Amino acid sequence: MTDMEIVLASRNKKKIAELEALLRELCKDIRVLSLDDIGYEGDIEEDGKTFEENALIKASVPAAMGYIGVADDSGLCVEALDGAPGVYSARYSEEGSDEANNRKLLSALEGTDNRKAKFVCTVACAVPDRLGLACPADGAAGAFAADRAKTAVKAFTVRGECAGTITKAPDGNGGFGYDPLFLSEECGKTFACLTPEEKARVGHRGRAMRAFAEKLSLIK
Ligand code: IMP
Repeated sequence: MTDMEIVLASRNKKKIAELEALLRELCKDIRVLSLDDIGYEGDIEEDGKTFEENALIKASVPAAMGYIGVADDSGLCVEALDGAPGVYSARYSEEGSDEANNRKLLSALEGTDNRKAKFVCTVACAVPDRLGLACPADGAAGAFAADRAKTAVKAFTVRGECAGTITKAPDGNGGFGYDPLFLSEECGKTFACLTPEEKARVGHRGRAMRAFAEKLSLIK
């Protein structure tokens, strides 16, 4: 694959640099552009009901402008809370800070023995038909993305998950979000106690990104 250009539907420079580095390692010659790079100034309303829908909604924005659009959506799903906070993970508490979200989660689980949870990350990719590329498409994802992009697209999503439990008190200083409360089943430590390399290996985002890179290499 040579000189493919993809647009990550994000303004987060750190996310863009991370994705570009990972893709360069896994499938060479890819340029990752941001929404700013393609002159998209609006905000994207994430009004989907699932991680897949939200990722497709975001990936459809560059696709509507003729680019290969890529986006991720992630969050924490707690079994005893019927999957909450789920797609509302970032804005679970009214205040919306990591500390307030974590406080709300601990109080929601007070007195609950079942503390099973999982982190989920979905990556969506939407490829406009007008680019004439072959793409490992999923019909339902394509129909959803085409409806949002108002143009014919092929699309797919991939998902990475990791299992764990919610601790009774925060532990560790690394990471962000719910990391201090998420005890990884695989590592026996909270995500906030892992090095970035360990988290990338067992974490939901690393898993989803590796699955995405594999599919991306099939776009030709
Ligand atoms: P986003 O879709 O990547 O913006 O993530 C949405 C929200 O899910 C974040 O604001 C966090 O609250 C939570 N979240 C997602 N991934 C992680 C993670 O790796 N650690 C901790 N919290 C996360």
